[in-house]
Amino acid sequence: MTTAADTPIRIAFDNRYARELEGLYLPCQPTPSPAPQWLKFNHALADELGLDGAALSSDAGLAVLAGNVVPEGAQPIAQAYAGHQFGGFAPQLGDGRALLLGEVLDRQGQRRDIAFKGSGRTPFSRGGDGKAAVGPVLREYLVSEAMHALGIPTTRTLAAVATGETIRRQRALPGAVLTRVAASHVRVGTFEFFAARQDSTHLQRLADHVIARFDPHVREHPDKYLELLRAVVARQARLVARWMAVGFVHGVMNTDNTTVSGETIDYGPCAFMEAYDPATVFSSIDHHGRYAYGNQPSIAHWNLARLAEALLPLIDTDSERAVERATAALDEFPALYASAWRSAMHAKLGLAPDADPTLLDDYLQLLHGHRVDFTLGFRHLADTLRGQPADWQALFTGPDPRLDAWWQRWHAQCQAPGQPPEDTARRMDACNPLYIPRNHQVEAALDAATDRGDLQPFERLLAVLTRPYQARASDTAYALPGTPEQSFGYQTFCGT
Ligand code: AMP
Ligand code: MG
Repeated sequence: MTTAADTPIRIAFDNRYARELEGLYLPCQPTPSPAPQWLKFNHALADELGLDGAALSSDAGLAVLAGNVVPEGAQPIAQAYAGHQFGGFAPQLGDGRALLLGEVLDRQGQRRDIAFKGSGRTPFSRGGDGKAAVGPVLREYLVSEAMHALGIPTTRTLAAVATGETIRRQRALPGAVLTRVAASHVRVGTFEFFAARQDSTHLQRLADHVIARFDPHVREHPDKYLELLRAVVARQARLVARWMAVGFVHGVMNTDNTTVSGETIDYGPCAFMEAYDPATVFSSIDHHGRYAYGNQPSIAHWNLARLAEALLPLIDTDSERAVERATAALDEFPALYASAWRSAMHAKLGLAPDADPTLLDDYLQLLHGHRVDFTLGFRHLADTLRGQPADWQALFTGPDPRLDAWWQRWHAQCQAPGQPPEDTARRMDACNPLYIPRNHQVEAALDAATDRGDLQPFERLLAVLTRPYQARASDTAYALPGTPEQSFGYQTFCGT
């Protein structure tokens, strides 16, 4: 057995945020875990990051990822940020139970943050304990890795370790630490923090940092801060279009959970919609459906308006002109979103981006009316091109002449002349996952891990979700939606 002492973990950290942005964070050490144990280590991601996966998955790595040993070169910091939560402004949030350990350059030369979540109190913890529980940590592991496998920009999960500590939530729960990997943890709320304090110096340094990291091509632009806003608008428009195309409901789209990198972040009360309904909400605290599935594009737009406000002093010294220009940048969102969404949805139907738009609109109406599972409603449609319509037909509540008429119209348009139907079906399968994180499966996996220390269901589900497009006979059960009893009133909770 190796020990932390005899195998030091070497990570080539290059901590630009800590180096360049003093005043935007506070140094803070992780709280050691009393009895760390592995839940899961992500070898593929370690490899992508150019890390020594064998060393990191040893006892020495466990000590590091449990917060007991801070590796050389790490510079743990808690980042400051504010945020609009459910529409109301909270001027000081910050990393209350997260720590940025440091940054590395991955194999592609991309800068990636390595951060803990649940590693103990920080100067931003307010009343919180700084901890995370096994269940929510494993939920983030499953859903973030599923999103990645679906090709959706997201933070990733490098590791989940149990701390051996019991934490207090509504009931006593086993504690855990998640290691999150992100292109950056800078949020809309990070900008809001300094804007609210009218601290233009730090605001500008933050903006320059983000430009250097994500938009270096605008560095020399005379209106670089406006260009930064436009770039974030475009990234968020593309991101939310991707969420919509897989039925992902983020659940807590506060501005502190909105990245400037365009990655999905914060897998708290998230869940995937089953029966298609734009009003779908899962979060127990979202009483008014602010973050319902169908509201996500307009909420993203609203969040970007908060970023625009924060950037105003950098955009133009004349405040009226700043507002005018920022508004024009924000006004680009609806068209960018609509075009990203339409082309993603048309691809799901095997249609060209510029195909007759009423085909999609009418299909969504049919899915809604028949309460059809969103994922299977697209996946099984392709099978009708293979002469196997039974699974698709079974999704609908009964014969419907509008459905038959729709299918005829769609069938006439989905295939390029001279192309075999199987080609269209294959193209559709490549953008219509068969396996998504089904809520009842996720809950069963988390319950087994939390209540019985049994990680088998988690492992099995993770393996299914990391290959979402390819049908496998052995995984048939994972493709099915929950039964009405399992799905009725399904709720998720923020209390991670
Ligand atoms: P979230 O709901 O995860 O986006 O968190 C919102 C804010 O609450 C962030 O500032 C978190 O750091 C903080 N927070 C959430 N849970 C805890 C906790 N257990 N201890 C301390 N801070 C927390
Ligand atoms: Mg958050």
